[in-house]
Parts: sequence; structure tokens; C-alpha cells
Amino acid sequence: PSGKMHLGHKLVVDQLIWYQTHGAKIYLCVADLESHITRDLSFKEAREFANDEYLTNYQALGLDLEECHVYFQSQSDAVQKLAYTLGKKVNFSELRAIYGFKNENNVSQIFYPMIDVADILRPQLKDFEGPTPTVVPVGVDQDPHLRLARDVADRFSKEYGFNPPSSTYSRLISGLTGDKMSSSEPKSAIFLTDSFEEVRNKVNNAVTGGRNTIEEQKEKGGMPDECTIYSMYVYHFLRDDEELLKLREACESGEIVCGECKQKAFKLLKEFLSEHKKKREKIGEITEEILSR
Ligand code: SF4
Repeated sequence: PSGKMHLGHKLVVDQLIWYQTHGAKIYLCVADLESHITRDLSFKEAREFANDEYLTNYQALGLDLEECHVYFQSQSDAVQKLAYTLGKKVNFSELRAIYGFKNENNVSQIFYPMIDVADILRPQLKDFEGPTPTVVPVGVDQDPHLRLARDVADRFSKEYGFNPPSSTYSRLISGLTGDKMSSSEPKSAIFLTDSFEEVRNKVNNAVTGGRNTIEEQKEKGGMPDECTIYSMYVYHFLRDDEELLKLREACESGEIVCGECKQKAFKLLKEFLSEHKKKREKIGEITEEILSR
């Protein structure tokens, strides 16, 4: 659990839903050991936060949690034991080279990457799926963890028969402010629990590929590839390529200008968020049942 869930996070959930509808078994790990170490969150706080902010949203977005294997790191003996065992073949200089650990880092932080690796390999333990191909959808910044996990899987292939985990990487999408989209920068992202007023303000202030004046934009056209609103259409709202192409052409030709385009985006966001809110309210307690299984 790290910060409120925003539209950028939704991309990973969309991917999980795609895998699930194609028959994959989904393992969801709540990284409460990590939030305990890095953000000093108690396990109780992490549980409440993960439940309310993430799992409820996942379910409202369409992931069938009843069919997922959801677990908390702090409550998984399998992960903790595996991490300890895997650590036998990883030394400090390797971790320092990957993560840049310094003398000031505490031992929990230094050990944590092994928990991460254990999370990735856990589904392949014989108590779960056994050795099997796995895919881990992550942001590009998570690549070092995946590389370490693949190396470690190889080092323990005799003992556990691990398949090296594969991974997919989501593109980093710019935040509405033009910088990185981040939960710690509220103006950079649309959160799934934002009020309409907050969304309207964020959309109105979003960085676009528009020109300095309406006249100039009508004459020269906009620059969709530099526009955070256009990204929103691409990744969340226009699934039909033809519609997307029409918008792109309208932008580049100056047929549509940013004010109108933002209004349309706000309307789509409003529809999506009010629908999402209704779904969240409906599912309420089911998530808690799933967690206590
Ligand atoms: S018209 Fe739309 S897509 Fe084009 S730059 Fe403006 S907001 Fe972006």
C-alpha cells in the first residue's frame, strides 16, 4: 500500500483483468511488510488501507477477487521462509549494486528485496501452483526486482524447479502537471475517489499540447503527443482506434481546441467515476471476507 489509487494504477488492474478473463490465476500480494519498513505503517493500518483503497477499487474496476489468491506478506509463512532460504544465494555486494544500499540502511531494508523475490516466486511453490510460467505486470522502475528474481529462480532451479518469471512493463505516463504521475503529488493524478470538483480543477489545469492562443491553435493545430489529456483518452477512454485517430486529426488540424477537448474529457471522467463509486458502494464488505479466508 503506497498512497491513494489513481488512474495510472488502473492500467495494471486493466491488465490483470485481461489475464483473468483469459484463464490466468491471479496472485495479489499486499506488501504490508514493505509499507511497515519504508513508511512506518502498522500492519493494521496497512490492512485497512489496502482493503479500502486498493482491493475495493480493484474489485470495482472488474477484477474478480473471489477468483484471486490475495495475501498479506506479514501473514504469509511461505513468503517469509522462502525469502530467508533464497537469501542464502544472494550476497550483500549484489544487493548494494542493484539498490545502492549504504551503511545507513537498516537490516530490514537490506533484507526486503528477498521478500519481493519470494513474492514473485511463491506461486511456483508446490503448495500453490508448482513450477509454472508466470507473468508479473510492473512499471518499468520495478525492472531491477524482476531481474534479481529471475537470477535467483535460476540459482534455485534444482531445489524448486522454478521457471524464470517473465514480466510486462507499463509505460510511464506523464502526470497532469507534466511531471511524473504520483500519489504524493495530488495535482498530478486523478484519484479514483476524487470529487467531481477536484477532477474538474485538475483537468482545467492539466498541461496540454495546446498553443498560446486559440487563434494560433486553430491555425497550427495542437500537439497531442505532448498532451496529458490526450494520454488520458488513449489509455482510458477511447478504446476504438478510429475514434482515437479522429480526435488526433481534429487536434492536429486545429478543428478542436483545448477548452472543448478538456470538457469532453471531464464528462467522460465524471461518468466513469460516478459509475465506479456506485460499484464501490455495492461491493462494500465482500473484500473483507476475501481477506479473512
Ligand atoms: S485539443 Fe485536446 S488533445 Fe489537442 S492539445 Fe488540446 S487538450 Fe490535447
